[in-house]
Amino acid sequence: MPGHEIIGEEEKNEVISVFDNGSVLFRHGFDKRRNGSYKVSQFENEFAIYHKSAAALAVTSGTAALRVGLAALNIGCGDEVITSAFTFVATVEAIVESGATPICVDVDESLTIDYSKVEESITHSTKAIIVVHMLGVPCNMDEILKICKKHGLYLIEDTAWGCGGKFKSKHLGTLGDLGAYSFDFAKTITTGEGGMIIASNIEHLDRARAWHDHGHENNPKLPRWEDSRSSSGFNFRMSELQAAVGIAQLRKLDKLLDKQRSNKSRLSTALKSYSSLRERTQFEGSEETADAFVFFAQDSQMALDIRKSLCTQGISTKILPEAISWHFAGMWSHIPELVAGWQRRKNEEKPYQVTLDLLSKSVSMPVNYYMDLDTEQKLHNAIQQVI
Ligand SMILES: *Cc1c(COP(=O)(O)O)cnc(C)c1O
Repeated sequence: MPGHEIIGEEEKNEVISVFDNGSVLFRHGFDKRRNGSYKVSQFENEFAIYHKSAAALAVTSGTAALRVGLAALNIGCGDEVITSAFTFVATVEAIVESGATPICVDVDESLTIDYSKVEESITHSTKAIIVVHMLGVPCNMDEILKICKKHGLYLIEDTAWGCGGKFKSKHLGTLGDLGAYSFDFAKTITTGEGGMIIASNIEHLDRARAWHDHGHENNPKLPRWEDSRSSSGFNFRMSELQAAVGIAQLRKLDKLLDKQRSNKSRLSTALKSYSSLRERTQFEGSEETADAFVFFAQDSQMALDIRKSLCTQGISTKILPEAISWHFAGMWSHIPELVAGWQRRKNEEKPYQVTLDLLSKSVSMPVNYYMDLDTEQKLHNAIQQVI
């Protein structure tokens, strides 16, 4: 959440430097005019270095990062892709856009995909799993990686909410085959709109790079208009202005994470006074981004009541419990491909009941960079009004 709170002179100066160096807003070409200023390439390089990864590819959004990632892995019609029943609708949309069928799996009390339920959803058509480090908490990557290895599946990490988080000392987004990041305005760092892809296999990244650019292979021996191509593609290129903001934001990421983590720990400590309420669980080795503070009330009514009384204290909640409809697969009857996939697999009336039960009793508070000193007191007040 907080990247947007600390946009300042640094972002402004990076943007101004684009205009001071020939005003080239496009990532390619115009080499004489731009005076060595290649913001998108620079952002990609710095992002890759931060993640101890060989290379990264900037795109226009987190949704685009997922879509391009699926294309890079050659996933499409006839394939099935497993993901979490608790995610932003974009994860499922990217799968549908690729032509594949989305298959959602319930979450556990970490609110990430329940790895013990993944194998029962695998068929001969399954090609990949997209795990979601939802609201900044890592999935159990050890277990998921084991399943992917056993069944020969690709692993994509939807790291839209996990930028800077780690699992067993490795950056989220770098443990699977591909990591997809988002820099939309609500994410930990922001470029307004934007995204990034990291791949463990450089050939996958090369395919992604071509696909996000109409198939252009950017062959250094050829001018762009004569460029070589091996696949079709689309346009998901990031602009120089977005990348300029991203460069400044990335340099603030560690500072943002430190502050979020210390602010979140104040809320965690406050919650410990109430034996009937508990935080979402986390797996050993998790270093969350602490973007949100999520706890379970005893039931959905209590969650709604706590939200209401938080609002009267001037604190809004973030996604849970009020915005389930955009983040819970059981409510997406407007996506026929998802419904069809579900019906083909199981004949239950109410899909993802476990997830629904967990989400509807959850309360999620945003953790900001600037958190008022009386926020814990407001949390106490809100809870005490209800229980
Ligand atoms: C934000 C988000 C996305 C999409 O990112 P955009 O940059 O907004 O397109 C995808 N998945 C999850 C889990 C998200 O939270």
